[in-house]
Parts: sequence; structure tokens; C-alpha cells
Amino acid sequence: MANNEDLFKQIISHAKEYGFIFPSSEIYDGLSAVYDYGQNGVELKNNIKQYWWKAMVQYHENIVGLDSAIFMHPTIWKASGHVDAFNDPLIDNKDSKKRYRADVLIEDHIQKIEDKIDKEIEKAKKRFNNFDEVLYRQTNTRVLQYQAQVDDIRTRFAELMNNNDLVGLKALIEELGIACPISGTRNWTDVRQFNLMFATKLGSVADGADTIYLRPETAQGIFVNFLNIYKTGRMKLPFGIAQIGKAFRNEIVARQFIFRMREFEQMEMQFFVKPGEELKWFDYWKQTRLQWHKDLGIPAENYRFHDHEKLAHYANAATDIEFKFPFGFKELEGIHSRTNFDLSQHEQYSGKKLRYFDPELNENYVPYVIETSIGVDRMFLAVFSHAYTEETLEDGSTRTVLRLPAKLAPYKVAVLPLVKKDGLPEIGQEVFDMLKKDFMVQYEDKDAIGRRYRRQDAIGTPFCVTIDNQTKEDQTVTVRERDTMEQYRLPIADLTVELLKKLR
Ligand code: ATP
Repeated sequence: MANNEDLFKQIISHAKEYGFIFPSSEIYDGLSAVYDYGQNGVELKNNIKQYWWKAMVQYHENIVGLDSAIFMHPTIWKASGHVDAFNDPLIDNKDSKKRYRADVLIEDHIQKIEDKIDKEIEKAKKRFNNFDEVLYRQTNTRVLQYQAQVDDIRTRFAELMNNNDLVGLKALIEELGIACPISGTRNWTDVRQFNLMFATKLGSVADGADTIYLRPETAQGIFVNFLNIYKTGRMKLPFGIAQIGKAFRNEIVARQFIFRMREFEQMEMQFFVKPGEELKWFDYWKQTRLQWHKDLGIPAENYRFHDHEKLAHYANAATDIEFKFPFGFKELEGIHSRTNFDLSQHEQYSGKKLRYFDPELNENYVPYVIETSIGVDRMFLAVFSHAYTEETLEDGSTRTVLRLPAKLAPYKVAVLPLVKKDGLPEIGQEVFDMLKKDFMVQYEDKDAIGRRYRRQDAIGTPFCVTIDNQTKEDQTVTVRERDTMEQYRLPIADLTVELLKKLR
């Protein structure tokens, strides 16, 4: 059984070997934390986006879409607070010359202690029958000690981050004895702030040109279009605006593959509500978004909420949906109650009124906002890493299968003539032409059928349709299911309807 680190390496190499994800500019040795999606990756990514768009825009009569530009007026980032406060605390190790995020060093340290707790629990599970995990966590001395350490570090860490206390952060790193993974030493520089926005110049003459930024989030494009959409869409509160698009952050330490990238994609929705109703809607979106994840069929124990104890000054509630990645539970999606902060800031900086006229109260006010924000790439990593499975079959052979939720799989069906002769490829082409109108279909007639099945398993195709000699006699084909490897015959004429039923 591979450990988590090995498993993660296997997942990364599988993503490359099967055309899902390539390092950007690979023939020039790549570009750090930037990735390209290959022929299968782009399909999976598009399906994730479509699944989100449908759930948010198509299934809610009061949510509409938007596609705003990446470049925006530079004052927007002053108003939003990004110019002054979109910073990460960085620290260098003087011996290895490696740069780290101070907060991530501390989080990793906490994770190591939590791993020790997990190990204790695993050991105890094997030792005792009728093991009661909750009771064990409450009574086992060693687990309690570890938990107390975690709680203490978390409280102090949150306070330091909240107060922007860089000296305190360095002192905590030293107190915890955190060493650089490369040099192994604790020879750290002071902690400094680093702004994560990429700046560039607008216009052809660099000298007099204005500095503009590549957007670090898509949300601000929604806020500055609030009035346009409210007026032209004749929207009534509560209503939402959804957007999918690229975002850019000059992350200090970009690692863990597509978990933390410098160019990535976000799916964000801002839901505008009447002041005073925001916490009701915050709860609604918390549950609705978790359900969206669970509807993919990934077991519930892979998700948990992490409610923020310390809130940003403009927020009055915030939570993360965390997912169990191969490297532990980490943020997948954020849900934030942002009060009327953003619209009020844009009112102030633009001098334009960004108000809603409430016909019931006969008054104008700045709506409150609930935000849901998820990274497409992080979602990709969540479903991809969960789907990756290595199995030993009854005959002792192994197979690697991507158990992707069928609706997200790049290809739904593969059409495979058993042999490349006797008229079977011609029938295969006809079946391909019939199915392609409703599904993404692959046609393959090279190699032994077993190898072709394995290739389809490896890219997550839920159904293979095999044409054989019997097809010529009775117009039936063999359907093979990816997960169970069960096989059964169906008439060609029934294929579309039957596959649609199964996929739904
Ligand atoms: P983190 O704490 O991991 O840096 P964040 O709290 O800064 O994330 P948000 O600003 O709330 O993240 O962004 C919303 C979502 O966008 C995140 O939940 C994540 O899914 C995604 N995201 C943020 N930064 C990145 C990145 N560098 N690469 C890929 N996805 C990202």
C-alpha cells in the first residue's frame, strides 16, 4: 500500500501520462506553479465548470451569470483592500536560501501533530473491538496532550495573523523549533509582507502608463457590475451573480501540484440580500454548497467545515469547506458573509451610488453579500485524487482506474470493435456516429481488447461498447461498466436511451 506521499506522486504522474495535466512550457523546463490541461484534462475541467454553472445559474431563477474582463480599473484594487492588504508573510532560511510562507510553516507543524493523533487512533482501532473514537479522543492521555498543543498553537497563531504581528510569527516559528526541510536548520530571516498581485502596464508607452493588475479574484468584477445587472436584469433581492474566470496570484510558495497555482480559475457567486437576512442566507449557502459536493457521490467523510473563529474586519461569518486531499484536509471552497463592505467601498471610491431600491420599505440601501468561492483547479484535484484507484483483481493482475463521477468523466463511452477486420470497424464507426450526438465518445480499434479496456479505465470512461461477430447477426453489442467490469448485451437501437438513463 503506497503511503500518502507516494500516492500523490502517482496521481501527478498519472495526470501527465494520460493527458490530463502537463507542466506549462515543459520543453523549456516548465514554469513554476503554472500548468496546462491536456486533451482529457480540458474535458474534465469543462465538465466541472458546467456542473457548477448548472447548479448555480440554471437551477436558481434568481442567479444570473457574468463574464467580466481580467483587466480592471486600478482603483478597484485600492477600494477592495488588495493594494494595501493582499499580502502573505514570507520568511527565508538563510542556509538553504529557500523562501517559505510563515503561516504555512506553522500550519504544516500543526498538521504534523494532527497526524500523530490520527496514528494513535489508527493503532487503537486495530487493538480494540467496538472502538469508540469519540470516547478515546476524550480520555486517552497522549491524544489529549497532542490536542491541547494543537489548540494552543491555533489560538496564538490566529491572534498573530489577525494583528499582523510579524515579529510574533517569527518568535512562534522559533519557539516551535520549526526547521527548514531543505537545510534542516532554524536559521530564519525576519518575516516580511509580500503583495500577491501581479502588476503590469496599460498602454504602449511604459513611462506614462498606468499600473494595472491581473485580477487576484473574480469577485470584484461582480461587485463593479452590480448596478448594471440589477438594472438591466430587473433583479429583485435576494439575487446572485455568478462568474467563472481566471485569477492570478504571485504565490510565495506554490506547491502541491494544482492545489496552489500562480494562474488558476475560480467559480464565484455573490448573493445580494437584504441587510439583517445575511446569516440566514449564509446558512443556506453553507448547506447548499456542501450538498453540491456530496451529490457527486464522494462519501461525506471526505468533507468538513472549518468555521473561521477570527473574522476579517468586513465579515460577520465565514467558513471553508475542506476536502481530504492526499496530503490532508485543506480548503476547497470558501463561503463568506461579507456584509456591505465591498459595495460600500466601491461607492466611496467611485462616487457612484450602488444601492438597491426596496419597494416594500420604499427606501434605498446597500445590499449585504454572501460569497461562495471555489477554485476550478482545486476541485479538479479533489475529484481526480479521490477517483484514482489501484486495484488487484481476482486473477492477481492489477488495474488503475479513475472512478470519476460519470457526469464529470472526459468521455462517457468508448466504442471498441473487437478486431480490426470482418466489417466490425465499419459498424463501430456507425455506432460512434450515432452516439456522438449525445455523448463525448472515443473510437479505438488498435491493440487487444483487454488493453483498450485498461486505457479507458485509466481515463475514467464509465462505459465501453464492444462490437463483435454477434453484432453482425443480431445488432447487439456488449456494454462493459468501468467500476464493476460487469458486461451485458444491448441492442444498438437502445444504446442511447439506456446510457442516458445510467448517466443521469
Ligand atoms: P488559501 O488559504 O488556500 O490560500 P484563500 O483563502 O486565499 O486560499 P480565497 O481567496 O478564499 O482562497 O479563494 C477562493 C478559492 O479559490 C479557494 O477556496 C481555492 O479553491 C481557490 N484558490 C485560491 N488560491 C488559489 C491558488 N493559488 N491556486 C488554486 N486555487 C486557489
